[in-house]
Amino acid sequence: MENSSLLSRLPEVRGRYRENVALGKMCWFGVGGRAEVVFIPADIADLQHFLINKPADVPCFVFGVGSNTLIRDGGIDGVVIRLGGEFNYIQVQGEVVTAGAAVMDVNLANYACQAGLTGLEFMIGIPGTVGGALAMNAGAYGSDTATVLLEATAVNSRGELQKFAPQEIGYGYRHKDLSDEWIFVEAKFQARPGDIDEIQAKMDEIKHQRGDTQPVRAKTGGSTFKNPEGHKAWQLIDQAGLRGAKVGGAIMSEKHCNFLINEGDATAADIEQLIALVKEEVLKKTGVQLEAEIKIVGKGQ
Ligand SMILES: Cc1cc2nc3c(=O)[nH]c(=O)nc-3n(C[C@H](O)[C@H](O)[C@H](O)COP(=O)(O)OP(=O)(O)OC[C@H]3O[C@@H](n4cnc5c(N)ncnc54)[C@H](O)[C@@H]3O)c2cc1C
Repeated sequence: MENSSLLSRLPEVRGRYRENVALGKMCWFGVGGRAEVVFIPADIADLQHFLINKPADVPCFVFGVGSNTLIRDGGIDGVVIRLGGEFNYIQVQGEVVTAGAAVMDVNLANYACQAGLTGLEFMIGIPGTVGGALAMNAGAYGSDTATVLLEATAVNSRGELQKFAPQEIGYGYRHKDLSDEWIFVEAKFQARPGDIDEIQAKMDEIKHQRGDTQPVRAKTGGSTFKNPEGHKAWQLIDQAGLRGAKVGGAIMSEKHCNFLINEGDATAADIEQLIALVKEEVLKKTGVQLEAEIKIVGKGQ
């Protein structure tokens, strides 16, 4: 399908369409092909209008800032939806923090701290959006999104808006049961009153620890694999002798071997091949099956 023909089939919106967009610049790995069209809705109503009126055969994929996503070299067919400025707001009412899905987790943690609210400190080290955190049940340092979530609001592929309690989303470790057709637009988090200095000290400690143990400034997707029940993924990778393993420009980090890094010139195919190689070797050498935490999307070249 030609880009121009796809755009001509899409409904008129108040937000913005962009054609033939290089997605590598929009995700942490810095690789990946192009999106035929990127849609940035003006607000929730515009997103609903788009979903109701778009042709049924046009696939849609939503993403945040791509800190957990590998986009294949052939890019993504259809429409990539990105939530922009209208979804980037934080409000505090009592002990409840409401955030739009485009808010960065780090900003949410800092905002809650300044409001004297504790419970969201773990978000300081997660370089994604609230939408991505809701989709992934992002977590760290003994807490996760599901634990602090009161209610999430989402729009489905038919444009219907609905509120969900965490139990209805069916959260597990970096997992949700709720279908991927739901696009999260807002979340309410339950926090508790706390001492600003103590909250800040906890966040500083988390930042410090991460800087010491993880390649946080590299082109990476964070933890490549989930920790299998009773195991740590990094230990299994280390045990299998794969610290520093390479395919093309992709390498399992020497600093934290569950982090896969694009050294600069990796392709998405290199990264995907390295993921497959690590899975195969870990299974062969330890008998444990690894499952990718990173979401792999799009088509190969
Ligand atoms: C250096 C580094 C450290 C990290 N540390 C952690 C960590 O400690 N803990 C942790 O859990 N993760 C960690 N991650 C992974 C990542 O930051 C989280 O998974 C984050 O929640 C992803 O958010 P995102 O906006 O980047 O999502 P994306 O990567 O853009 O998307 C991830 C998934 O969420 C879906 N999604 C995104 N937005 C929405 C939405 N609005 N509605 C519905 N679905 C949506 C996408 O379709 C995709 O399937 C780390 C990553 C990096 C690079």
